[in-house]
Amino acid sequence: MFFIILKIQGLKMLEIYNTMNRKKEQFISINDNRINLFVCGPTVYDDAHIGHGRTYISFDIIKRYLEFIGYSVFYLENITDIDDKIVVRAKERKTDFLTLARFYENRFKEDMKKLNVDSVNLYPRATDHLNEIHKQIDILIKKGFAYESEDGVYFEVEKFPSYGKLSHQKLDKLEAHREIAKTTKKNPHDFALWKKTDEKPYFPSKFGNGRPGWHIEDTAITEQYFGLQYDIHGGGLDLIFPHHEAEIAQMEAISSLEPMVRYWLHTGFLNVDGEKMSKSLGNFITIRELLKTWDPMVFRLFILSTHYRNPIDFSQKALNQSLKNLDRLKITINNLIDFKDNVINHSPEDIVIKHSPEDTVINNSPESLDDFQSIENDLDISNKINKKSFNDNILLHIDELEKEFFKYMDDDFNTPRSLAVILNFTKNVNGFIDGKTPLINTGKISEEELYISYKFAIKTLKFFIAFEKIFNLNIFEKENENLDSNKFLDILLETRDKLREEKNYQLSDYIRDKINELGMKIEDD
Ligand SMILES: [Zn+2]
Repeated sequence: MFFIILKIQGLKMLEIYNTMNRKKEQFISINDNRINLFVCGPTVYDDAHIGHGRTYISFDIIKRYLEFIGYSVFYLENITDIDDKIVVRAKERKTDFLTLARFYENRFKEDMKKLNVDSVNLYPRATDHLNEIHKQIDILIKKGFAYESEDGVYFEVEKFPSYGKLSHQKLDKLEAHREIAKTTKKNPHDFALWKKTDEKPYFPSKFGNGRPGWHIEDTAITEQYFGLQYDIHGGGLDLIFPHHEAEIAQMEAISSLEPMVRYWLHTGFLNVDGEKMSKSLGNFITIRELLKTWDPMVFRLFILSTHYRNPIDFSQKALNQSLKNLDRLKITINNLIDFKDNVINHSPEDIVIKHSPEDTVINNSPESLDDFQSIENDLDISNKINKKSFNDNILLHIDELEKEFFKYMDDDFNTPRSLAVILNFTKNVNGFIDGKTPLINTGKISEEELYISYKFAIKTLKFFIAFEKIFNLNIFEKENENLDSNKFLDILLETRDKLREEKNYQLSDYIRDKINELGMKIEDD
């Protein structure tokens, strides 16, 4: 029931802040429980920085939450693999643009994996969608929204009267365009759909050799996978104008349908020690640099401790606080699992063991959330068996906290508030465990109290598992054990290399065979 009720509540209650209308709106999907989500991906000419980390962690949790409450989400994030920045960097490094782009694309994906950003379904590349880009440009010209000039094809903003609606600007008072005014443009605010060039790299097209404009890549990709209209478009706040504005103009001009996107979501800026992050200030931090000294999950928790729309201030102090909070969560879960096992060990069979298939209870992993359903049913049965009334306060308390947690998540994905609920709850959990454990260990506990303890442990674990499914912070991982065994394995492999250098093959083969026996494959070249 727990899961089903949540689903219904979620589908009904979720509110999302829509940049287009500058207010929170009830979320209504276009196609029942299917959602199409697009987020602007990276231009792959350099390593991703912590500001990128902020945006992609935020949308990762947004996708995870939407799925948790019952939606099926198709999440697309484009890879801009052709762009002036890429071309310039490739020339500097004396390599071709595609080699450079693939190199940084791979590094970007490695960074995302480390941050547990694993919910993107597809990373379509601009260079794989040139046909779709050409088709859109063609339609825009035919419909009179775009014109060809000497150096390119441009979108004529005056032909699209609502240009400026996302950034809330009037057409005659637009912010200066970041693209340098081209002499062949009719209006400085017109933006490039195709940039003509005979300088490599270029792609052939009916408009001449050239490269695609940045904005058209997104709409060409989303039209191919989502169609003319879709549910959510996300990105950093700095992309609202002109990038997202231009996307709207292109797509709505092509489709004659409005709106192109129902909900526009934008993540706030990330500052470093109160200042804007920039290379010139020397406070520019890549994800790779950060992860040399910090656990990626500490950074993830740090990001989720601020609402995605608010500015976030990166500092060592804030990371330290997140480290403490992460430890607190892990310790609580360890305590809880030990406590649950302890209760089971001290319980008369007919109270707990009979009603708890041990193998499912023992499997304390986020994947086992559904297994808990059967345990919950068993508990209901045993409630009927034990007709005595129990003091259910602590259990009701958990229900209340759960409601509060999801109320905040439904309020425009308010992760800092939800986190506060969970972190405060850890105090109660540890307090309850500390109070009951001595009684359990000395046998001075009644069957009723034992039973409540058991139900408390299961209910709480279930809550933490739901939390972990959404926040994905590896809090169920016994990190130290993994860390130690990896370190030992490294030492063993290094020792073995030394033995082989010394031609002590008998001993090195012995180590290889023993490691292979553990199911890990070591082969010599
Ligand atoms: Zn984009």
